[in-house]
Amino acid sequence: MSAGHMTLIKGLIDSSFQDPQGKSFQLDTREVLIDHGALSAAGEVALRYARPGLALLVADENTFEAAGDPVAESLDKAGFGMSGVMLEGEDGDPPLADEANLRAVQENINDEVTLVVAIGSGSVNDMAKLASFHAKKPFITVATAPSMNGFTSRIAAIIRGNIKRTEVCHAAKAVIGDLNVLCAAPKNLVRAGFGDLMSKPVSSACWKLAHLIKGEPFSQRPYEITSGAFNDVRARALEIGDRDPHAIRCLFEAIILSGFSMSIAGSSAPASGGEHLISHYWDMTALRDKRRKNLHGEQVGIGTLLTATLYQKLADLDVDQFDAASILADYPDIDQFESDIRKAHGDFADFVWPQAKAKYLPREQKLKEVEGVLRDWKKIWGQLAPMLEKPARLRGDLEGVGAVISIDELGIDRQEAYRALTRSKDIRSRYTVLDLAADLGLLEQLADETLLDSGVLGV
Ligand SMILES: [Zn+2]
Repeated sequence: MSAGHMTLIKGLIDSSFQDPQGKSFQLDTREVLIDHGALSAAGEVALRYARPGLALLVADENTFEAAGDPVAESLDKAGFGMSGVMLEGEDGDPPLADEANLRAVQENINDEVTLVVAIGSGSVNDMAKLASFHAKKPFITVATAPSMNGFTSRIAAIIRGNIKRTEVCHAAKAVIGDLNVLCAAPKNLVRAGFGDLMSKPVSSACWKLAHLIKGEPFSQRPYEITSGAFNDVRARALEIGDRDPHAIRCLFEAIILSGFSMSIAGSSAPASGGEHLISHYWDMTALRDKRRKNLHGEQVGIGTLLTATLYQKLADLDVDQFDAASILADYPDIDQFESDIRKAHGDFADFVWPQAKAKYLPREQKLKEVEGVLRDWKKIWGQLAPMLEKPARLRGDLEGVGAVISIDELGIDRQEAYRALTRSKDIRSRYTVLDLAADLGLLEQLADETLLDSGVLGV
């Protein structure tokens, strides 16, 4: 199966794609090396993308310990000089993807730097990726954990002023995944990578939904790229939990493909729907409320169980008796809507409002949209059903790998989970299943039922 993924990865690297304006482009990533002992090839790989000047290594204490020395040795042999920046978190936590850490990388990129090398995943990768993009320097990444899909995507997540957002940048020219390192990664990081990938059915469905209801561009190719990999990964949940090398390879390849699907679509939509909004919302409120910070993929796994359950509840509705005009009887005008949003989001209101506003429609237009949704209800579900998965099955997969399956394990209480279900739709202009439920006037009622039935409340 892995041979199939690598063939697909190589084929995509060699392909040309078209953006929505018809302009052809290739993936930024030219090379993916996954092997035992791959770290020792770092210098050789680097020479293909940069002249041997100064390489800036970006890592944190743990990631440098996992892979730093062999990478530095290999770069040295290839003729690179080196400087380094060690990102730090608070109180021994991993570093955040925030402005201070971005600045720390930026301040170390001078004229002599010919290459930026991330040694890490998560924040280390994202900060090195963003800083190298702004400085127009070639960037390669050495993954130390299969924990997220940002190695090969053209976006980076960053927290600016307590607000988490994604910004457009470039993807790594080369990704090096040493299986000895990836298999030794902490179990919670491996499970998080699995959790992030498990969002595929619901994120795909949200992308399709935005296409059907809002006319957003949807393309089949990015959707298909990760479908096979998703099935292979879930079939190996137990082995991934045990960090079996073949299974970890399979997970890492799927992560690479997931990043490619976003690069090809020109948007994070193939891998990020309502479940990701829930996770982003918790990232924001965790900072504000000084709650524990969880791994992205852990939160996405829970978000996936929630939105998969919400999808099921909506799919089960009999909308024959629904009447758009009655549903919208209390539909707010724009001023009322703004005041509702500001009240609901408090300190975040200035950030949230432009996003929420972008999705707002005047009453007449909203009425037409909801009438259309009700009229096309069966057609819409006919298209979504093949993409979706039963929540119980997804839960079984997450359990299989040993991932977090209750909000309790995330330090999130029921009220905060309810708030995420009902309010995270406001933080991004993207249309998702959360908006569909809201447009039918059912989000609050279904949020309660969803919390109960998804099983995330624990026992
Ligand atoms: Zn994600």
